[in-house]
Amino acid sequence: MKVIQLSFPVDCFSISRRKMLGLTAAAATSFFWQRLGAAPLNQPDPKSNEIIRIGTEAGVFLTFERRGLQFSLQQIQRQTQPPILYGDSGLRTAGPGPVGNPLTLVVLNGPQQGTYGMDTFEVTQLEHSQTQLMVYLKNARLPMQVGLEITAEGDVIEWRGQAVWNGPDDTDVDLYYPLLSRMRFDPAGSDRLVSGELSGVEKPHVATLNYSATYLGGLSSPVFLVEGGGRGIAFVEDSRADLAADPGGCRQRSAVVGTEFPLPDNGDTALALATGEDGPFAGWRHRRLMLGAKRFGGQADYDEAESHGTLPMIKLGDSVDLGPVLSYAYGGTWKTAALWMRQQREWVPFRSSPAKWYRDTTILSEEMPDRLLRTGESLYDLPLLLEERHELGSDMMSLPGFAEPEIIGTQENMLNRGDYFYPAENLGGWEAMRRSVEATHRQGGHVLLYVEGLIVWKRSRIGRSKASDWALMDADGKFTENYRGFYDMCPAETGWQDWFAQTLVDIVRTTGVDGFFMDSMLATDNHRCFNPKHAHAPQPDIWNWGLRRVLKRVREEVDKADPNTILLCEGAGDLAREFTDGSLSHGHAWSRMTFTVPLSRFLHPQMRAFEADGMQPHGPNAPLWPVKKPLLWNAVQGYRVFMEQESHEVLAPLGRRVREYYDLYPEICDAQVSVTDAQSTNCMAQWFDGLPSVIACGNDSDTARLVTIEFPAATPVALLFDRRDQKRIPVESGKAQFQMEPWEYRAFELRV
Ligand SMILES: [Zn+2]
Repeated sequence: MKVIQLSFPVDCFSISRRKMLGLTAAAATSFFWQRLGAAPLNQPDPKSNEIIRIGTEAGVFLTFERRGLQFSLQQIQRQTQPPILYGDSGLRTAGPGPVGNPLTLVVLNGPQQGTYGMDTFEVTQLEHSQTQLMVYLKNARLPMQVGLEITAEGDVIEWRGQAVWNGPDDTDVDLYYPLLSRMRFDPAGSDRLVSGELSGVEKPHVATLNYSATYLGGLSSPVFLVEGGGRGIAFVEDSRADLAADPGGCRQRSAVVGTEFPLPDNGDTALALATGEDGPFAGWRHRRLMLGAKRFGGQADYDEAESHGTLPMIKLGDSVDLGPVLSYAYGGTWKTAALWMRQQREWVPFRSSPAKWYRDTTILSEEMPDRLLRTGESLYDLPLLLEERHELGSDMMSLPGFAEPEIIGTQENMLNRGDYFYPAENLGGWEAMRRSVEATHRQGGHVLLYVEGLIVWKRSRIGRSKASDWALMDADGKFTENYRGFYDMCPAETGWQDWFAQTLVDIVRTTGVDGFFMDSMLATDNHRCFNPKHAHAPQPDIWNWGLRRVLKRVREEVDKADPNTILLCEGAGDLAREFTDGSLSHGHAWSRMTFTVPLSRFLHPQMRAFEADGMQPHGPNAPLWPVKKPLLWNAVQGYRVFMEQESHEVLAPLGRRVREYYDLYPEICDAQVSVTDAQSTNCMAQWFDGLPSVIACGNDSDTARLVTIEFPAATPVALLFDRRDQKRIPVESGKAQFQMEPWEYRAFELRV
């Protein structure tokens, strides 16, 4: 039986490989046997040179050069289009830049600290077919070997790799792969970056950029694209190691686009250094603490244990997978690339809450209990407060600071991140909470409580007892302290996971509350944890893996009390979303008003991200938007809305109007954003593929305007119909024209 099980997949592997690679039977057989190590792979002649081209006539092709034992990627090109890699600003000479093409290694510390480009690697073995290249490389100066497998199919390139560390000691490394050095699409310099950071971030002038963002922490989805002049290249990093039962395959992955290599970790420093003279390079950084061979025995142990014969790489120490990273060389708009990204990320699971009220609600508001204390109100006032929220279009309210202040008689409830189980007696205690939640439900409202998913106040009860056991530790052995006076929790620690989950379910049972907003959870920076007492030690890059674990535990526990419990995370991360119901994000303010492409809404219509209005942008040189613009933009793009308390008054009429439209047009928040664009003049517009299709639009100016929406010739649209006021606007010669008031929002069905 065992023999059959072994031989069957061998045949399948061989046949499918042969088909995929377009190899002859003999070549495929040789390829297969070489993989098993029974026959040596092609060892190149150090005195010879060769040019290797992989790809198909109709799609993208890659040109590699082997010069003796030196190997590099020279060019990526779609048929008939200008080359993607360039060597000078005039697009005259193509060629590799100073880094990458396709790999660069950076040792982060120790005696071997430094940058190791392709010129420090030598080819040990090399094979290729028409569509795939497999190369093994060893570094001439470091005990590191790398295997790279690059496949071109149509316009998509798949980059897979594996790096093996055979040094005796643990060594922290960054492996950049693929790293495409010096790309340009539009010679006029209009190239831009659109990345999966937050809910979607756009950076113009990519030639003068130094950008890096880690998934999760910066990136909500592991995707970005660089484009200009109607073409571009899109990347998806599609490793699934964070989903495995153990964190052994995890590493920290970051998108990098820049001119200064290696990119400084500090974003502001990186920006200041960007010159645009040599860049941009673009690709992915894979960070891993490579465990030394000392931990696993040496060559003698290896020889005794392994009997495979000659393998292309000897693995004595740690190894790390690189990718798979997929890249798509496309022509068209960002939506062309995003549609492909959506297909690649289609497997990402999203939970749909069984609570129908939640699926139908679209605007979240908040109330600060600190404010209640100052105005002499209490939790008993929640039903009245919710009635006020109806004026904003909201029927769901989040309450930060519902727990006790540690020092009795003070009003600093919000400070006490940790003691959520203890009633806020200065607001009426659990009894007030339970009765007011019940009353709020009777009037059709819902209440979420604010908890911190990753931070504990050191002076709280839990802060004085167990929290330090679960805390993140930096490489220097000190507790991580992003906020003074607070421990940062390690999401991978089961102690924290259990305590947090148990605390939340106890609160649900005691108060009947509808759920929680978990601050920080999918929004804070991606942290490494070097706490030697933790089960994941010594591997520090367990952030994403741990977040999935803690959210899974919370879901398991709260479901025991009520599966309708709503779990909202801060941030817009796409990971662990099978356990949570949505997110609350300040995309506009956090991104310094560069959240101008609705990427997450396009990729994941089921994401349920409540995007904030009102908050002022963070950081230097951030442009100020008129206060109504973020709300109007969110409404046009189909994001759910979080109404910040500070802007309630000024935004109430628009919020109410948006909610009326959202209630009449569920397509705006739930249907797929269309790949098709309608050209709009004097307004913002977005098209949703509902049944029927729907278009939302907004006038983001202080003046009344005559608005034009022009439909593509192939789209049959005879009239626009507004469900709210039953207005019909004719479409003549593919154009609809109508008047919009200042800051007006509306939506239409597209009727044929
Ligand atoms: Zn830890």
